[in-house]
Amino acid sequence: MSHSEKINLLGLSLPKMQAFFADLGEKPFRATQMMRWIHQRGVTEIEQMTDISKALRSRVAEIAEIRLPEIVNEYHSVDGCRKWIIEVESGSRVECVFIPEAGRGTLCISSQAGCSLDCSFCATGKQGFNSNLTVAEIIGQLWWANHKLGGFNDSTLRPVSNVVMMGMGEPLLNFDNVIDAVSLMMEDLAYGLSKRRVTISTSGVVPALERMRGLTDASLAISLHAPNDELRSQIMPINRRYPIRQLLQAATDYIHSLPDRRLPVIEYTLIAGVNDHRAHARELAALLKSFPCKINLIPFNPFSLSDYRKPSANVIGNFRQILQEAGYTVTIRTTRADDIGAACGQLVGEVEDQTRRSSRHRERNSRGKPLVEPDVANLNRAAETVR
Ligand code: SAH
Ligand code: SF4
Repeated sequence: MSHSEKINLLGLSLPKMQAFFADLGEKPFRATQMMRWIHQRGVTEIEQMTDISKALRSRVAEIAEIRLPEIVNEYHSVDGCRKWIIEVESGSRVECVFIPEAGRGTLCISSQAGCSLDCSFCATGKQGFNSNLTVAEIIGQLWWANHKLGGFNDSTLRPVSNVVMMGMGEPLLNFDNVIDAVSLMMEDLAYGLSKRRVTISTSGVVPALERMRGLTDASLAISLHAPNDELRSQIMPINRRYPIRQLLQAATDYIHSLPDRRLPVIEYTLIAGVNDHRAHARELAALLKSFPCKINLIPFNPFSLSDYRKPSANVIGNFRQILQEAGYTVTIRTTRADDIGAACGQLVGEVEDQTRRSSRHRERNSRGKPLVEPDVANLNRAAETVR
C-alpha cells in the first residue's frame, strides 16, 4: 500500500474513529486513546502510542497513518499575529491566521482553496476556486497552530481558545468536511473548544444553512454587507440566488434549534461610497429589527486587485452610532496583521483557479474596468453542490 492510500486518522471524527476500530474488532476505548494521542498530545507516530499494545499498533500502522498538511511558510506580524501557509493535497496553498488578544487566542481557518462565490470585495474570491479541503486539512490547521504555539506540551496553556471559519473559502460549500472538522474542534477527547467559541461564517448558502440544524451546534456568523437585495446582489452574487429574507429566515431557524440563547453575528464590511452611508445604517437597523443579533463592522481591507477603499474613521463611527442608537450591540473589528497580508479578505494563498476567473479579473483590472461582474453560471454550479 502506498503512503497516501492509507487511511488518515487525523481527519476521523469520533464516530468514524470508533467505526475504524470496530472494523478491526477492537473496543470503542481504542478510539478514545487514539483521539487523545493525536489531538491532545500532538503525537503523529503510531509507534509512540504506548498505551496501545505493540501488536495492535503495527496492525493499525499497516493500514493507517496520521498525515498532516505541510506548512510551507510562516509569518510573524509586529502585532503578535501569526500566519501559516499550508499546502494541501490538491497542490494549492491556503492560509491560516492566529490572532492573540487579551484573554483569548483566535484561529482563523480556511475551508477551501479559493472560493467560487466571487464577492466583489474579497481577495480569495478573486482567485476563483480550486478545491475543497479534506477534514484532515481543516483540522490540521488547528493541530499545527497548537503545535507551533506550544499547546501540546502544556495542557493548561490552551493557546487557541476560539476558532472562526473565516479564512479562505465558503465553509458551507464544503459542508460534510466542515461539519466533521468542527465536531473535532468541540470534541472533549480532541480540542474541547466551547461551542460558543467555534464560529461558522457564511455568505448565505441557504440550503446548507438549513441542513446544519441538528448536525452541529456551532455559533453562526452571517456575512451580510448590505441592507437591501439590490445592493447585496451587486457586491455578493450569491444574493441573486438566495435573497436576504430567505437567508435571515434560515439563520433564525438554525439559532432556534440551539439549546441555549446564543446570538448570531451579522458581519458588515464597510466599503467607502458603496455601503457605508448613514441611510444604509438606518436601513440595516430597520431590516434587523426582528432578527436578534450582534453586529460586527469590518472596515474594508484593501488588496491589489481591488479599487475599493476603506471609509474614514468618522464615517465608520457614524455608522456604528446609528446602529447603537437603534439598540444593537456593535463591535468594530480592528485591522490586525495587515503587515503580513493576513487581515480579513486579504487571504490569497496560491490557488490554481479552475474557473479562469482570476485571469479575467486581472485582465479587466489592467484595462481599468470595474471588477464587479458576478459569474452567475458559476454560482449556480456552486449552489448545486450543496443539494
Ligand atoms: N466565505 C465566508 C467566510 C470567509 S470570509 C464568508 O463570506 O462569510 C470572512 C469574512 O471576511 C467575511 O465576512 C467576508 O465578507 C469578510 N471579507 C472578505 N473580504 C474582505 C475585505 N477585503 N475586507 C474586509 N472584510 C472582508
Ligand atoms: Fe467566498 Fe466569503 Fe470571499 Fe465571498 S467573502 S468570495 S463567500 S470567501
